[in-house]
Amino acid sequence: MTASIPHFINGNPVSGTGDKTGDVYNPATGKITAKVPLAAKEDVETAIAAAAQAFPGWAATPPLKRARVLFAFKDLLEQNADKLAAIITAEHGKVLSDARGEVTRGIEVVEFACGIPHLLKGGFSENVGTNIDTHDIRQPLGVCAGITPFNFPAMVGMWMFPVAIACGNTFIWKPSEKDPSAAVFIAELFKQAGLPDGVLNVVHGDKLAVDTLLEDPRIAAISFVGSTPIARYIYETGAKNGKRIQALGGAKNHMLVMPDADMDQAVDALMGAAYGSAGERCMAISVAVAVGAAGDTLVEKLTPKVNALKIGDGMKDGMEMGPLVTAEHRARVLSYVDLGIEEGAALIVDGRAYKDGDGFFMGGCLFDHVKPDMRIYREEIFGPVLCVVRVDTFDDAVKLINAHQFANGTAIFTRDGDAARTFTSKINVGMVGVNVPIPVPVAFHSFGGWKDSAFGSHGMHGPEGIHFYTRLKTITSRWPTGIREGAEFVMPVMK
Ligand code: NAD
Repeated sequence: MTASIPHFINGNPVSGTGDKTGDVYNPATGKITAKVPLAAKEDVETAIAAAAQAFPGWAATPPLKRARVLFAFKDLLEQNADKLAAIITAEHGKVLSDARGEVTRGIEVVEFACGIPHLLKGGFSENVGTNIDTHDIRQPLGVCAGITPFNFPAMVGMWMFPVAIACGNTFIWKPSEKDPSAAVFIAELFKQAGLPDGVLNVVHGDKLAVDTLLEDPRIAAISFVGSTPIARYIYETGAKNGKRIQALGGAKNHMLVMPDADMDQAVDALMGAAYGSAGERCMAISVAVAVGAAGDTLVEKLTPKVNALKIGDGMKDGMEMGPLVTAEHRARVLSYVDLGIEEGAALIVDGRAYKDGDGFFMGGCLFDHVKPDMRIYREEIFGPVLCVVRVDTFDDAVKLINAHQFANGTAIFTRDGDAARTFTSKINVGMVGVNVPIPVPVAFHSFGGWKDSAFGSHGMHGPEGIHFYTRLKTITSRWPTGIREGAEFVMPVMK
């Protein structure tokens, strides 16, 4: 008997009423470890009803009290961080140390949200007119939903709900059906921390569950992270239905390597950023743009390292790269490697034959002489495949990066301050690193790409998160001593 992973609705684990289930695998063994129920429309509606009922009480709870629940949640997350990391590795496949890093980055958002009394402070202007004052407040939206991808089964949800809930909203989290256990475990911890029932609900499901959230008028806002076609669909459909939407999509992140860069540092950075988490990161570097002489050195230094990657079950000590998430995803990534050869790129390291039992493994792949018109350059592969594109000048590199459809993250490796400064100023990408390969902003800044990597005008967490999950109300007031004249029929102006 395989285990069944419950939904978590109104403070309780429930199996739901749907008759569809999904298989959850351990990618390192290729074995099914659990079944996940895929919600029927009425399961989603039950969760929405619970969240709607919990909203008025939670919204009226003083921010300081909400913060105390968040502090207790943070403590529980820290106590259970290793357990949570093991849950992630068992269903996603990433190595345990990387899963632990994911948990830490998620906890940092909870830490940020603990400051909610301060974060919600509004502005006050005295005497905007004689004896008239104006102040503004930020109020919660209502029931919010978060739809998250497989590649960060804990952290991406934690970009969303801690901030939403700290702001006074209630929340429905629809995690990826590929690795759903982390979400349920996290929701249980939040309940233990004192969160009232119905404030955070977890519903598993597929397109039906997502469409129910998109259509239900009780949902005020949706946060989405996943692939670009679905992000665009969520943005367009949600907006049509009058919801506030932030929808983050796919990526193709370039690392520009100047000939003056410290090449050993650049190569180490590329190894971690391209092959860590088997390349299944939206901030993974999948293209190295080598300027001039940097190309030969990079490829020469990368080749032995890619060949020597320590690949295996992420639970084993010392592994650098685990398996891909599913057999289908591995097949898709392998087909891109075949395509790259057909398109004429030079496959310097071929990891296609790598095997380890029935796990969904492949080895690292390295392409050189990749050209901008090739599909392996234009499309997101989302696997351990690094493409080296060679250009003559810094300006060519900037032009290349700015012409790409995706604009999530990018980095420059150089010792030249002018080049770095010009790069950060001229590059049309949302998150930029200078000698930092994966410039994921910390929790008190905001995360988000540009162009086809993000739809909607707010990033996740940090100040953007607070703005996304609240709406501004501006109050102008005067008291009887300030009211001297009778009715006025002209536009109010300062007196
Ligand atoms: P995905 O788009 O397949 O799925 C994301 C979520 O949408 C899941 O919860 C899934 O159940 C749901 N979904 C899938 N198909 C749907 C449909 N037709 N209608 C409605 N909902 C649907 O993405 P994934 O494969 O889980 O994750 C990988 C993708 O996520 C990559 O493209 C990666 O770049 C992207 N990603 C982006 C960021 C970012 O911050 N920009 C972060 C992490 C991942």
